[in-house]
Amino acid sequence: MAFDPAAYKKGTLAGVLGCGTSGLAAARLLLDKGFRVLVSDSAPQAELTRRLKGLPRRILREGGGHSKRLLRCAFVVKSPGLAPALPILSALRQAGVPVFSEMEVGLAFSRSRELVAVTGTNGKTTTALLTAAIFRAAGRRSRPCGNLGLPFCERAAAAGARDVLIAEVSSYQLEDSTSFRPQAAALLNVTADHLEHHGSMERYLKAKARCFAEMGPQESAVFNADDPLCLRVARQTAARKYFFASAAGTRVQAWIEGPRIAIRLDGKPALRLVPPPLPGRHNLANAMAAALLALSRGVKPAAIQRAFKSFKGVEHRLEDCGVFRGLRCVNDSKATNVDSTLAALEALRPPRQTPNILLILGGLHKGSPYTPLRQELERSVKGVLTIGSAARKIEEDLAGAVPVFACGELSVAVETAFKIGAAGDLLLLSPACASFDQFKNFEERGRLFKKLVRQGR
Ligand code: ADP
Repeated sequence: MAFDPAAYKKGTLAGVLGCGTSGLAAARLLLDKGFRVLVSDSAPQAELTRRLKGLPRRILREGGGHSKRLLRCAFVVKSPGLAPALPILSALRQAGVPVFSEMEVGLAFSRSRELVAVTGTNGKTTTALLTAAIFRAAGRRSRPCGNLGLPFCERAAAAGARDVLIAEVSSYQLEDSTSFRPQAAALLNVTADHLEHHGSMERYLKAKARCFAEMGPQESAVFNADDPLCLRVARQTAARKYFFASAAGTRVQAWIEGPRIAIRLDGKPALRLVPPPLPGRHNLANAMAAALLALSRGVKPAAIQRAFKSFKGVEHRLEDCGVFRGLRCVNDSKATNVDSTLAALEALRPPRQTPNILLILGGLHKGSPYTPLRQELERSVKGVLTIGSAARKIEEDLAGAVPVFACGELSVAVETAFKIGAAGDLLLLSPACASFDQFKNFEERGRLFKKLVRQGR
């Protein structure tokens, strides 16, 4: 069932489950639209009061868990990321209280008529921001929203009729959605991640597939033809399909040709575009996806080329911080899974065979093994510096492949790198783990890394 605001009278009690960035945005929006709002979170009451500071006191609130009060709500908005097995969710189901995703609620209040979505395990933020830059270069007002810290209930709800919403959507947002139907959407890749939340790869893939489930032939779906799991999702959608790949092929509309991206649509002559100045083949994939999304919505190639040329990349994603004490330092704090770390190593791999990368790995373990890194580590890494609670598991998985230095803290890892590194080496923070054991988020981890390297220790 889709969320329809018109189905509820003014003053109806709405529940908001989870009081993070998205939950707060949902509470604010619903209040603004005339609902009474009850916010419920597992955080202690005092913490909840802190988060709700500055919001009208008439917002009802309960901390320290979810009570039966939620069952009296006409509907409940679920924040992304809350475990699907939460007992309150089955209680709501049993009581017949509809539960909607924060994304669907935000979109239901939006006046925008054009929604372009980006999903996948890695590359969502980069591709969404690049797509937004392309639409802007084409003279369209684009509004990035969603998983990049810009909640739908705030950004989508504020969008005007002529604004194009560029949504970064995660599997968390998708798994709760039943009516999501963008005009164009891309699936960049699917590799093991968030398995602790979804329970299995199958369920993770099913969540990703929800992005394309409601689309019809008038909508466009862009897929990575090099990724067998993307192809599986592609087979299930009724949308018009576009494929990108590293090499040309009969069913492929975009591919890599030397230093350029080639695109051929509808039998027209192929276009050749100079990609954005970002390191790594994975960024060529992101650029192909963004270009196909834009072309499928009628954007002209010249606008794409202009946006590519001026795109600077995104903070914490292979961000070049400069050279300190002879080491080039790169902040890739957003690499929170093994596959994104592999992409970083492939992008920064030394041209000669001598390994010169000092790699900081570790943080909060997310359930996938680190063994897939071994081969690339042997090729390009001269030392791994471990931090955080995943360190032991990493050390076990990498034993014998490369020298490993157990550092515990990020400051010790940076200090060790400066001690053991030689001029011309590269110090890379690309931890393959979440940050929550030692940091508030990956941004805080990345900022500390930049501060430490600038201080030269
Ligand atoms: P997401 O929003 O999906 O997490 P980001 O653009 O923030 O994606 O990038 C996350 C991490 O993954 C960064 O370390 C980045 O360098 C890496 N990355 C970006 N695009 C890709 C890709 N297509 N394949 C693999 N890794 C990628």
